[in-house]
Formats: sequence, structure tokens, C-alpha cells
Amino acid sequence: MVLAWLASLAFFGLFIGCGRAPSPLYPALEGSIGMPHRGVLTSALRVPDTGPGYHFLRENGRHFALPRFASAVVRAAARVDEESPGSTLVIGDLSLSTGGRILPHLSHRSGRDADLVLYATTLEGAPVLRHGFVHYGPDGLGYDAVAKRYLRFDVAREWILIKTLLEDPEARIQWIFIHHDVRTRLLEWALASGEPLDVFERAFQVMAEPHPGGLHDDHTHVRTACTEEEVFRGCEPFGPVRPWLTPKPTTSPPSPERVVPSGGSTLDADIIAELMHPLESKQEQHASAAISSPARAPRP
Ligand SMILES: [Zn+2]
Repeated sequence: MVLAWLASLAFFGLFIGCGRAPSPLYPALEGSIGMPHRGVLTSALRVPDTGPGYHFLRENGRHFALPRFASAVVRAAARVDEESPGSTLVIGDLSLSTGGRILPHLSHRSGRDADLVLYATTLEGAPVLRHGFVHYGPDGLGYDAVAKRYLRFDVAREWILIKTLLEDPEARIQWIFIHHDVRTRLLEWALASGEPLDVFERAFQVMAEPHPGGLHDDHTHVRTACTEEEVFRGCEPFGPVRPWLTPKPTTSPPSPERVVPSGGSTLDADIIAELMHPLESKQEQHASAAISSPARAPRP
């Protein structure tokens, strides 16, 4: 009788979608469960309140993530502080301790996303410790409406951050959503600095501007990819598989998003696949709408 009840519960669970949450019937589910836009989080790690090279944009309880990902963000901020002390990374939203929905985001639900404000300097090049979202134009300048001053996008420190994340095997960076102009500046900086080609190639592939999906000219949205073990525990791969991330998830079913054209770059196919997902696009729009005020100020 009990077995029959359990069997029927499991059967209906498959159809109402509750099979992707921790429960006595699914005790192995742990960590990042589901997808960034439809998932939950257990056994999360909270980014510490204080640490070298970073501070929170807000104290809002949204600084939880997969432990390896949260640690990687902390390590990257410390690395920037070590190599180029003076400015600090402003950390925006990650996830709640249990994951799930947080407005205005549609992703950030399973501990795999982090919003990181772009590094800035003053017009004279002095480091800036505290600032919020500032939209930067093609000239690299942005108006800080709170402090009523212009700031300059700090491409040097931002590149150290991105390079560190890309080289950190625990970070497993799948996407860095970023504005086209900011991306171009970073890639040009990497080339001019003589960065290794493999790092440049990774940056070239993961940095992308979603269309539609908000400008991302004031922050980056960084996403980590599931490990093989995390997939086993409920993490659902979503989007392109980066060839340098090993071992690749092997238990996920093939999907159109993961089709890689033969003989060419995966960049176009990956971006198209990502942008074709309506929820992800809406999330980026919502996030952008929420951070787009105050309105842009005219250039000096
Ligand atoms: Zn975000």
C-alpha cells in the first residue's frame, strides 16, 4: 500500500514538475538545482560581508551561490586588489540562500549568476572605492548621478577580473553578459597587453551582449556552468558548452542550444541559441530596466 502511494506520488511528480526540488523522494538533489531561470539552491555559500578588494552594492541578502562560484568571485576580487590596489569590486545580486525568484531578475535563481559592477576611475585615473551603476559610453566615460561626477571605465582592472575568472578552474565561466563597446575595449586591451591567445579566445567567446537583453554597459552578468557532479545532483546545463571546461557535463540530453557547427567558431550559434530563449532575454531586460535609472546625463 505504502509502495503504491509512493509510486503514484513519484509518477505525478514527474508531470507537475516537482521532481526538480529536494525532497525525501529525491535526496541526492543538492546545490544548484534546475536552471538559472527556473531553479533553487541548497548548501549555498554566502560571500563574506568583507574581504580584500570588494564590497556589496547593497545589503540585501542576495549574496549566496554555489560555493565554488562564490569563492571564485571572492578570489578574483582579491587578485585585482593584489595586482592593482586602489579600487574595489562592487558586488551586486547573486542569489538568495535557498535560490528561487528574486525581482527584477528572472535568472539568479540557482546560485549560478552574479552581477558585478564595472570598475571605475576618476577622469584623472585615480581609483574609485565606492560607486553604483554607471552607464559608460563608447568613449569610456559615464556619469555618476549620485556623486554628480563623471567616471572613466577602468579597463585595466576589469580585464584582470575577467582574466582571473576565466583562468580559475572552479569558476567555470560560461557567459559574461556585457555591452558591445565595453567588450571591445576589453578585447583590445587584452591584445595590446599581449595576453595569451587561449585567454583571449575564451574572453572572445564568453563575453556577449544579449539582444534584446539590456545594455550591460554598467555591470557584467557572470554565469557559471555546471560541473559533471553538479549535473548528477540536479544542476541542469543550459546554453553552450565551453570546450575548455572539463570534464564536460555528460548526462544532459542533447538540445538545439548545444549544437555546435562544424569547422567554425561556436560564437554566433551560441549567442543565437542563448538569445532565442525568451525567459533569459526577459530577465536581462528586467535587470536592465531596474538599473537603468537615473537616466543618462549628457556627455561633457
Ligand atoms: Zn544579472
